[in-house]
Amino acid sequence: MSGNYDVQQVCKNGHQITGSYNIRPDKRKDFCQECGETTIIACPSCGEAIEGTQIKARPDYSGGRSGHSGIVPGSPVGVPDYCSNCGKPYPWRENTIVAAIQMFAELGIDENEESTIDEDMHNIAKDIPQAKPSAMRIKRICDKYGTVAYNVVMEFASKTAAEVLKNQ
Ligand SMILES: [Zn+2]
Ligand SMILES: [Zn+2]
Repeated sequence: MSGNYDVQQVCKNGHQITGSYNIRPDKRKDFCQECGETTIIACPSCGEAIEGTQIKARPDYSGGRSGHSGIVPGSPVGVPDYCSNCGKPYPWRENTIVAAIQMFAELGIDENEESTIDEDMHNIAKDIPQAKPSAMRIKRICDKYGTVAYNVVMEFASKTAAEVLKNQ
């Protein structure tokens, strides 16, 4: 059964509920125990299921005598940041980026900075070539506001962006 994956349930703030939604229905939850947020099992943009643990056949399976289906969950799986089907950030990722943009707006960035900040913040979250020029612009803003601003962007900055941002 290799190559088969279960579905993952995650709260909208990014806390994993279970990586084995189908095999372990007893682990499902409507609300997150850590933050009280509602939970999802699919990408809100395209509806594709969030990939969970790899499903493995039980090595000792001999025909359903114990009432099991003969499959068990594989190793724990991490919470992904982006949908592999449509490429959009999941709500927890998007909310982190939006919160950072809002915080920078509170700090009082100028019109020029405001015109590119949305794209720049989304770019620095990824390991992509555009993360570098975006990180340069974000760094210029961070330099004006200091540690508080840096701490916010470093929370989600990709390796590519962090190299630029740390290089003071
Ligand atoms: Zn939560
Ligand atoms: Zn999607």
